[in-house]
Amino acid sequence: MKRILVFCVTWMFIATCFAQADQIKQNVEDKILSNDQRPKLVVGIVVDQMRYDYLTRFYDKFGNGGFKRLVADGYNCKNNQFNYVPTYTAPGHTSIYTGTTPKYHGIIGNGWFDKETKKAVYCAEDNSVQSVGTESAAGQMSPRRLKSTTFADENKLFTQMRGKTIGISLKDRAAILPVGFSADAAYWFHGALEGNWITSTYYMDDLPKWVKSFNKSDKAKSYLKIWDTRYDINTYIESGSDLNEFEGGFYGKATATFPYDLASLNERNGGFDILKSTPYGNNLTTDFAIAAIQGEDLGGDNITDILTISYSSTDYIGHNFGVNSKEVEDTYIRLDEDIEKLLRYLDQKVGINEYTLFLTSDHGAIHVPSYLQSVKIASGYIDAPAMNKTFLAFMNKKYGAVNLVENVSNNQIFLNHEKIESLKLDLEDVQEAIVDELIKYEFIDKVYTAKSMVEGAFTEGIEALIQNGYNQKRSGDIIMVYDPAVISYAKTGSTHGSGQNYDTHVPLLFYGKGIMKGSTTEETKVVDIAPTISALLEISFPNANTGKVISKAIEK
Ligand code: ZN
Ligand code: ZN
Ligand code: ZN
Repeated sequence: MKRILVFCVTWMFIATCFAQADQIKQNVEDKILSNDQRPKLVVGIVVDQMRYDYLTRFYDKFGNGGFKRLVADGYNCKNNQFNYVPTYTAPGHTSIYTGTTPKYHGIIGNGWFDKETKKAVYCAEDNSVQSVGTESAAGQMSPRRLKSTTFADENKLFTQMRGKTIGISLKDRAAILPVGFSADAAYWFHGALEGNWITSTYYMDDLPKWVKSFNKSDKAKSYLKIWDTRYDINTYIESGSDLNEFEGGFYGKATATFPYDLASLNERNGGFDILKSTPYGNNLTTDFAIAAIQGEDLGGDNITDILTISYSSTDYIGHNFGVNSKEVEDTYIRLDEDIEKLLRYLDQKVGINEYTLFLTSDHGAIHVPSYLQSVKIASGYIDAPAMNKTFLAFMNKKYGAVNLVENVSNNQIFLNHEKIESLKLDLEDVQEAIVDELIKYEFIDKVYTAKSMVEGAFTEGIEALIQNGYNQKRSGDIIMVYDPAVISYAKTGSTHGSGQNYDTHVPLLFYGKGIMKGSTTEETKVVDIAPTISALLEISFPNANTGKVISKAIEK
């Protein structure tokens, strides 16, 4: 009897152990995604210069299949912010995909003064590679100035290079920087007299067949037509009057008013490059993205592919016509249709709920200050050449030498350290004297030394934004901050670059496989996107990541 009892207890124990082991195995399986649980394709969309309020201001004008579909069925981060300055295109795209700021990824501007070679450099230029698809130098680009990986690089490493990565944008930097080092391709648009999508030998020696046939198709040429408003202009009540003094316009047309005949205007406005400054540039980008999905069979199997699309026309149009223009309103109404077209194609080609998508922007934009002044809102224009002249006169008077200053760019002053040493001056004393001088100038709100950025530890305010944008090896000696709503720019059109909310607050929408429905007004940061996508894919975060996972957005 006793033996039987012992046997029974032992048997029950063993059975329980097996059951527990089964349960543990089940739990592990629940937690680790198998390949067919991952999205087949991740699509990252960056809308260049999209302020947060473009989503809300034009909302009633959107159809149900574009932005509204992303908002209704996805996760909407309503308070998504850039956490560094300067808010320019190259740092913006890089930060979105690397999950970190210029302090770590090294892309401190679209271009900057290189302290080593003492020359101005462009973020993506690379003379060691050749153009592919054009005889011009427009293809001599690569990501070699980038320092840290993107989530696309991490996906490559995770999938033993089997997941494909393709980057697309009218702008080279907005195609190259998002995809990182290990991309299969980045393609950008070369306008001028050619109107072709091109790349560089960094990626390949010859364009694939599908790109060649796209270029041959005369698609670009078909957009050299009339640009008029998509709907009756009188229904565009969310923007100012078409004719006003705050807009630039095109050479060869007296007023910045609809309609624009691109067939006759293109010759005086850069040939095919005029398309960049119209919504047709975005249409062309969508056409090319769809051709890429098909040509590369993106999302065709269970190994996750990455496609990055950056819509650049929104930026060119914002710079030309300004935040409050009818031209910008029409551009977003048409972009909504691009988004719808792209989503429909993805549904059909990759499958509904088989892909994950996010949409954000690389920076916002300021209302044209001359417009703000017309409605009594404090704003202004800094006269940079005049300010430089006053500043150099000060340097000459104080140190007897103007060439202590090597370069002024991206609101930073670069000093000649060798010269300062040869004059037996103390670098910190010179930096501090410059701060005391510049802070007296009109519209200069704050001035910091490099030393304060290297030694301080700021967690909030403009100081934190500057520090996150400050790269010790690449940035300058003095950092200037203008008053809110003050820019150094033409009197027409909008621009960006500051740490003010109009530049830092941008949309962030997640949609598709693994994404929760919902929204939040709690602050998220642009650097949170890459770790969130990485967490969704269960891959390593980009190597210099400083962002946090937006847990509420993903089903985990
Ligand atoms: Zn931009
Ligand atoms: Zn206009
Ligand atoms: Zn811009």
